Amino acid sequence: MKHTTNRQNKKYQLTIGWLYPDLMNIYGDRGNVIVLEKRCKDRGINVTVREIGVGSTEKDLQSCDLLMMGGAQDMQQEIVAKDLQKKKKAFAQMIEDGVPGLYICGGFQYLGQYYKTADGTKLPQLGVLDMYTENPGRERLIGNIAVELSPELGITGTIVGFENHGGRTILGKSIKPLGKVLKGYGSNDSAQEEGAVYKNSIGTYFHGPILPKNPMIADWLIEKALEKKYGEKVMLTPLDDSLAASAREAILARM
Ligand code: GLN
Repeated sequence: MKHTTNRQNKKYQLTIGWLYPDLMNIYGDRGNVIVLEKRCKDRGINVTVREIGVGSTEKDLQSCDLLMMGGAQDMQQEIVAKDLQKKKKAFAQMIEDGVPGLYICGGFQYLGQYYKTADGTKLPQLGVLDMYTENPGRERLIGNIAVELSPELGITGTIVGFENHGGRTILGKSIKPLGKVLKGYGSNDSAQEEGAVYKNSIGTYFHGPILPKNPMIADWLIEKALEKKYGEKVMLTPLDDSLAASAREAILARM
């Protein structure tokens, strides 16, 4: 398939920061980085993927224009929560400054005030978002999920994915959910809401991974990253997403 290249985008360069690839990466979360990289390349945007792991510095983190962190088991989350405390100040500031990011499941939980694991350990988190997560240790919320995107995102539509989490996330009043649950559980088992949007950061329970099936989210992130870095309005060249749209339709029909 041939894609048009947006000449105007040729001068652009983005560094994608992939947070804890060896620890926070389950149910295909890595696919999100592949999609972001590919959709930049298809438009002639120079792109570098930088791995930010245990021992990386705040400076390493600050060199990134777009962040992605996947999910994990409670055990890995404990290691990451400890290491992230060392980069907490810079990380929180980047989110406040509008550096875009995609945070999946355990990564999403990290943005809140705390995460109480299934064995009752309270892990201090980044504390940027007015939300907290508790894992009561009872049944996990597992299965396919469909969500209607919140209007504040500026894009409309229904996204589909797969969730598998024990944690229940409760949003404070100041935080908007990513969308309304049509099928599945979402952030917790009662509110019918999924994920969160804060400035240019998206938190979600969607694994699967989320971006190949829902590329409009990838473009939202790329656009925000370019606008933030270059201080100008960016219009991305549309790509042929008919296969992803058909996949979404087929999944929705089956659900
Ligand atoms: N360990 C966390 C939970 O069970 C996150 C799981 C995940 O990232 N899939 O809620």
